[in-house]
Amino acid sequence: MITTTNPATGESIAEYETLDENGIDRKLETATRTFRDWRRSPLEKRTKVLAALGDLYEANQEELARLAVTEMGKPITQARAEVGKCAHLLHHFAENGPPMLESRFWDLSDGGKAEGRWLPLGPVLAVMPWNFPYWQVIRFLAPTILAGNVGLLKHASIVQGVAQRMEELVLEAGGPEGLFQNLCVSSDPINDVIADPRVVAATLTGSEGAGSAVAAQAGKHLKKVVLELGGSDPFIVMPSADIDQAVKDAVTARIQNNGQSCICGKRTIVHADIYDDFADRFTAALKDVKLGDPMEDDTELGPLSSEGQRDTVLDQVAKAKEEGCTLLFGGEKIDRPGAWMTVGLLTDVPLASETGTDEIFGPVGQLYKAKDIDEATTIANAIPYGLGSAVWTTDESEKEHFANTIEAGMTTFNAVNGSKIEAPFGGIKRSGHGRELSEFGLHEFMNLKTLVHP
Ligand code: NAP
Repeated sequence: MITTTNPATGESIAEYETLDENGIDRKLETATRTFRDWRRSPLEKRTKVLAALGDLYEANQEELARLAVTEMGKPITQARAEVGKCAHLLHHFAENGPPMLESRFWDLSDGGKAEGRWLPLGPVLAVMPWNFPYWQVIRFLAPTILAGNVGLLKHASIVQGVAQRMEELVLEAGGPEGLFQNLCVSSDPINDVIADPRVVAATLTGSEGAGSAVAAQAGKHLKKVVLELGGSDPFIVMPSADIDQAVKDAVTARIQNNGQSCICGKRTIVHADIYDDFADRFTAALKDVKLGDPMEDDTELGPLSSEGQRDTVLDQVAKAKEEGCTLLFGGEKIDRPGAWMTVGLLTDVPLASETGTDEIFGPVGQLYKAKDIDEATTIANAIPYGLGSAVWTTDESEKEHFANTIEAGMTTFNAVNGSKIEAPFGGIKRSGHGRELSEFGLHEFMNLKTLVHP
């Protein structure tokens, strides 16, 4: 049994019966059966389901947003935006996906021709996190449907209501039974699911630990994996930047999703020439963040997703102090039911310390001073992760420098870094491997079959 809890109140919401071995077996059987038909379905049928599903996300935006807020505490305006982004992606793949599946041809030196044809692979397992409970799943599901694969979801335990609703919506959109199934399970049986010959591949979005466990099992059974893991993204501000906007966006980048986004700007790195001014304004703006009921439209920061998650962040703050960092303000537990804590800011973080190299998945920022562009780059890269990054500069040569030297899967200039529905998304180093979104994401779980015509 899995019990979900509202992190804003600490109250239980619902209980979900977990699947036993037979229940999982039936789901895998259904997935296999559905795949036999779905792989041969015309593209128009797949795009019709995608478009209908997109319409349903639009039509049910408020209900879906409120469900996510209740289960994991993100501010309602951000939950609405997340559901809207899902609808946008579904329509994007419905409208622009088919050309991504067109064959490519090569003239052969012996006079023949070769064709590269994109074919589906089979049932794919998606292990997903709670932080963007719809978006992370849709990012996997939209290309799965278009490719002719079928999907199995092991969602984070704390968002089982979302998981169940997502399965229902695929059926409402006209998807056949088995196109997308929710496995209501803890992580215990996941090794067996990965090992099962009916499952052809796995994708995981989540922490390094979970990613490593899933990848190890997939490797043992020679199955492909895509891993979208943690990050501790740099947010670099150079002297030519629009400081007002940079301060505003640095706050958003750090506290979005209650500080629990893989691509939060977790380490703010500021050039020495503007450091003092920026630090004063950044500190004031962070202290000004409106904390409150996540169901209220003007709330900027709600509770963390669970008391466990909040306590992890509090432990990291305590560790930071032990390691000699300065806690400028905040980063404290709020004494009321639920998973509440205040925004905080750390400085004097030693680069090689645990604090300097770990991901803080909560609303506690880190502020660094860099004497020049090289030091800014060194600080940016002094982590085991390589997911996103943001750079504030209007100097084109600086942009080129950062574009080529920041070790990350993505760099955004003069804005908050965020995934774009049309462009590839993914990380390097310990942030994972593989890409989601665009044709690169679509092709991750497809067989590029070479057909030779002599
Ligand atoms: P998590 O604890 O790793 O959980 C993610 C999923 O993995 C959940 O469904 C979880 O199930 C499952 N899981 C945990 N241990 C597992 C194991 N040993 N075997 C199989 N499955 C396992 O991560 P989270 O706390 O939900 O999410 C936060 C992390 O995700 C952060 O590090 C964040 O940066 C990262 N993230 C990355 C991206 C990206 O695109 N790169 C996006 C969002 C989040 P249970 O819930 O049942 O434990």
